Amino acid sequence: MSSVVQKKTVAFNTTNRSCPIGEITGKKNIIESKIPVISCEGACIRGEIARLAANNVSKEPGYGRGCHGELITVPESAIAKWMQSAEKVVLIDGCFLRCHGRIIENIIDKDKLIQFDALSHYKRYTDIFDYDDVPEEERKEVAQSVSDWVMENLNNASAGSESACAASGAKVGCCG
Ligand code: SF4
Repeated sequence: MSSVVQKKTVAFNTTNRSCPIGEITGKKNIIESKIPVISCEGACIRGEIARLAANNVSKEPGYGRGCHGELITVPESAIAKWMQSAEKVVLIDGCFLRCHGRIIENIIDKDKLIQFDALSHYKRYTDIFDYDDVPEEERKEVAQSVSDWVMENLNNASAGSESACAASGAKVGCCG
C-alpha cells in the first residue's frame, strides 16, 4: 500500500472583498461564453513557460484568461462563477508534477478540464530553475511553441470529440 496520503486539505481565510475589474471581466466572459485558460503559475522557468503559453492561448478567439486565485479562494466572485460554469477549462501545467491539475480537478468537473503538461512538449531547461536564466526572446519562442501545440490539440479534439484531452492526451502529452 502506498505511503503517500491520497488527498490533503488546505485551509484558507475567506474574504468579503471583491476585485472590481475581476467582477467586470468574469461577468463579460460568462455572457460571451469564453473558455477559461489557466496555468500552474509556478515560479521556475517551467512555470513561466506555462504562464506565457496560457496568456497566448487566452488571446485566441473564444478563450479568456482565468484566475486560479479567485477560483479557489473567492468562490462567489464572477471569475470563479465563470470558470465553474464554462463548458470547458484549459489548464497548462509547467511540468509532470501537475501542481495545478491535481488541485483544480477537485474543484472543477474533471470531464470539463483539458490538461496539458508543457514540458512534455518542449523538453528543455530541466537543469534550470530561475526563469531569467533563459533569455526573454527564447522564453517567448518556446511559450509560443507550447501555445501552438495546445491550440492544435484543442482544435483537433473539438473537431473529433467532445473530450479533448481524453481524445488526444494519451498520445500527445496532455495530462489526465
Ligand atoms: S507543475 Fe511544475 S512548473 Fe508548475 S508549479 Fe508545479 S513544479 Fe512548478
